[in-house]
Amino acid sequence: MKDNILFITPHPDDMALTSSGTAFILKENFNIIVVCMTKGQKYSPNLPADISMDKRAAIRENEELTANSMLNATTIFFDAMDGEVYADRASCEKMAQIICNYQPKAVFAPWPVDWHPDHRATSNIAQRAHLLAESDAAFYYYEESGSTNFHPDITVDITAVFADKMRMVSAHQTQPLQQRLNDWTHVRCRIRGAEVAVPYAESFKRYRPLIAGQSDFLLTELAKITAK
Ligand SMILES: [Zn+2]
Repeated sequence: MKDNILFITPHPDDMALTSSGTAFILKENFNIIVVCMTKGQKYSPNLPADISMDKRAAIRENEELTANSMLNATTIFFDAMDGEVYADRASCEKMAQIICNYQPKAVFAPWPVDWHPDHRATSNIAQRAHLLAESDAAFYYYEESGSTNFHPDITVDITAVFADKMRMVSAHQTQPLQQRLNDWTHVRCRIRGAEVAVPYAESFKRYRPLIAGQSDFLLTELAKITAK
């Protein structure tokens, strides 16, 4: 029986863009659970402008399920409205219940300094829920498309799974794909890779600094998988 790792993502496609390479490596030893806060029902530049919000939600939900199936992931839709994610008590308690239900070994959430209010709120919900759930899961921030002031603590070489990540991003056909694939996936992963002299990488921040005697969950688990 594999342990769970939880990825909390504001919109369909955010997880694919930001942290899916690392998830492709972790799925070797863990079940991947994706909590998608919204169905992105207000943004789909590749669909007709007059499409209904319900129809757009259904299409993007399907894209997210298709993408996450590549990770054999369980997908939970949190059912917040696109553009209206707030870190209110009800949302934090609802997320805490999800953390209690799945007892993850690690939680990944967006870095909180971000121009997109949904990304900021999702980050705050995740952090508060982790506390409310009294979870001992390792907690990591991933770098979002709108992140600023992000200075990595940990960088993961995703070169071996970069093509899988590209396939996952490509599943989000309603989105501006060239920008997503080139500007975000390719350039961002090249930049993070160049910092540590590998072709492609993703970077993360720890919730808290390590202290003497502690080891980092992510680095420890990745080392076990790589050694197989
Ligand atoms: Zn987003």
